[in-house]
Amino acid sequence: MIRAAFPGSFDPPTFGHIDIIERSRSIFDELVVVIAENKQKHYLFSAEERRVMMIEMVKDWKNVSVMVCDTLIVELLKRQNIKIMVRGVRNVMDFSYESELSMMNKALSPDIETIFMMTRPEYLVLRSSSVRELAAFNGDLSALTPPLVAAELRKKFMNLPAAAQ
Ligand code: ADP
Repeated sequence: MIRAAFPGSFDPPTFGHIDIIERSRSIFDELVVVIAENKQKHYLFSAEERRVMMIEMVKDWKNVSVMVCDTLIVELLKRQNIKIMVRGVRNVMDFSYESELSMMNKALSPDIETIFMMTRPEYLVLRSSSVRELAAFNGDLSALTPPLVAAELRKKFMNLPAAAQ
């Protein structure tokens, strides 16, 4: 029984994240999506809002669960006895950042392995910050994030009802 975790801000979740979740859940027996809540960081969506959106997106996948973490991610993994952390990689910049992070995590928790998963070409330039920016300008989000997330973004920026999507 191999359990893995996929941590991130998911502010908001995108198709890039969903793709990594879908591919990871077919490799591992169980996948825990960990919503990071860092008090030093400013998010558009609260941890609870991000959790609710993520739960809705993974609701049909029985081996995927969602948790919020406001401590070090490796501490949560240790508590949950999870030894694999999945990270998505889009480009060399991601790789450079992620490899440093994984080495720091390795020093903190030698038992935990970080596994990098390459993005799909169609999600190469997809990141939550671009989605937030596009939403602020009322751009078309349909290729970037599911309708549920697009509706929540629209509510944040335009104060429009979800039905206006
Ligand atoms: P973002 O970088 O979009 O703000 P997060 O910080 O929430 O996203 O990222 C959580 C994890 O998902 C990280 O490992 C990140 O590299 C990965 N990720 C984000 N967007 C993509 C994407 N388009 N394709 C693959 N992995 C991604």
